[in-house]
Amino acid sequence: MADKPRVRFAPSPTGELHVGNARTALFNWMFARHHGGDFILRIEDTDETRSALSYQVNLLNDLTWLGLDWDEGPQKEGAYGPYKQSERLDIYARHLQQLESADLVYPCYCTEEELEEERQALILSKRMPRYMGKCRQLTRDERKQKEDAGRKPSFRFKVPDETFQFADLIRGAMKFEGTAIGDFIIVRSNGMPAYNFAVVIDDHLMGITHVIRGEDHLSNTALQIMLYKAFGFVPPTFAHHCLILGKDRAKLSKRHGSVSVGEFRKQGILPEALMNYLGLLGSSFTEGREVLSREEMMAAFSLDRASKSGAIFDEEKLHWLNAIYIRNCPTENLVSRLQPFLEQAGYSTDALDPVLLYGVVDLIKNDLTTLSAIGNHISFFFDDEYEITAEARQILEKESALRVLKTFAEYLKNSAEAVQEIYPAAIKHLKEKTGVKGKDLFMPIRAALTGRNHGPELDRVFAILGKNAALKRLNPFV
Ligand code: GLU
Repeated sequence: MADKPRVRFAPSPTGELHVGNARTALFNWMFARHHGGDFILRIEDTDETRSALSYQVNLLNDLTWLGLDWDEGPQKEGAYGPYKQSERLDIYARHLQQLESADLVYPCYCTEEELEEERQALILSKRMPRYMGKCRQLTRDERKQKEDAGRKPSFRFKVPDETFQFADLIRGAMKFEGTAIGDFIIVRSNGMPAYNFAVVIDDHLMGITHVIRGEDHLSNTALQIMLYKAFGFVPPTFAHHCLILGKDRAKLSKRHGSVSVGEFRKQGILPEALMNYLGLLGSSFTEGREVLSREEMMAAFSLDRASKSGAIFDEEKLHWLNAIYIRNCPTENLVSRLQPFLEQAGYSTDALDPVLLYGVVDLIKNDLTTLSAIGNHISFFFDDEYEITAEARQILEKESALRVLKTFAEYLKNSAEAVQEIYPAAIKHLKEKTGVKGKDLFMPIRAALTGRNHGPELDRVFAILGKNAALKRLNPFV
């Protein structure tokens, strides 16, 4: 690539960051980082009724949490700001004037009801619904009449009767006819720019070289190409990637389950696992590898690998990847990431013995799929939470079980070994003394010490609990 590429992520703060948009952000970020270019964040907040500041705040937090750092944008002003569309209204006004002077726009006074009527009539007569240009031919006097009657115009772009083309990096050659598209609104009657208008001006003025976004924007791109031409701007290169679908192949939405980055964050998905998963979706990496660090994905990233057909979101697979990242996370780091989840599970982290907690987390991290499941995995290490399940009780009812536990307790009382050595020595002793072996030997010990019939390796559980806590738990059975 000759020049340094400049790409952007341009979310509208009208909701929580959807994983589909996070994936678009990731693709842009990887593209920029791979090619040594710039990644720009632009907030498209011109829809005043739907945009909210809280969404904007969450958006920046989510991107930061995901590690998608931007080179220019809010909180990181660069040479092309401002980076919020609501702060660029004068720029759009100037550009409207430019098109007005070139006689490429006209005011439209149609009301919502009139437009809807036209739409319905077209549908009824089996024609494609689009604006048929009613206000295009209004005379100066007719316009004045409408204005005098208090109507505020929107401004429509005069769609030329031409064929437009562009080459999409993922989809190849794209072509569309102006005749199939009605004159579209570029400035609304409230004075705010429409998305297609603002985005062309911003992408041009911000020096964007590549627009990478979801294929749901393809029809917008058609309109944008017309505006580039009208302004005499060179359009950027476009790449429309496939969308994320649910298992029913419909666009991933709330009815499929969790869809926002915030929801996955609350579940205790690690950002690196989510990034890895979203990076994999709909693009294939060399040798079918699935666990890739950000650096590896960045180095291998290429739009050529992006598939055209939709990518199915598989939450189980995300959990599988998350478990791998949890397992590979250094325990000390994991303990600190677990703090909010421990608090949520009812543990006062200040009151927990840090050495004990480290040992527990180190032991159970192999079985943890999400951070929010921590409570369930660690409860039996803490006396207050220790309870015996029905399955464990059944095990403890056996006659041989009581013999095992009694002998175990006796051995513990008299043992003088270091804590790490007690357990193997006790097992050896129990085998000799009781003649019980295998499951019948281990299950009662597990059931009594942990209150459950499965869990992490017993020798490690014992080493963490220590002799006194173990004796306390054996007491009711001896
Ligand atoms: N604000 C638009 C959106 O959130 C941006 C689309 C684009 O990338 O141009 O869908």
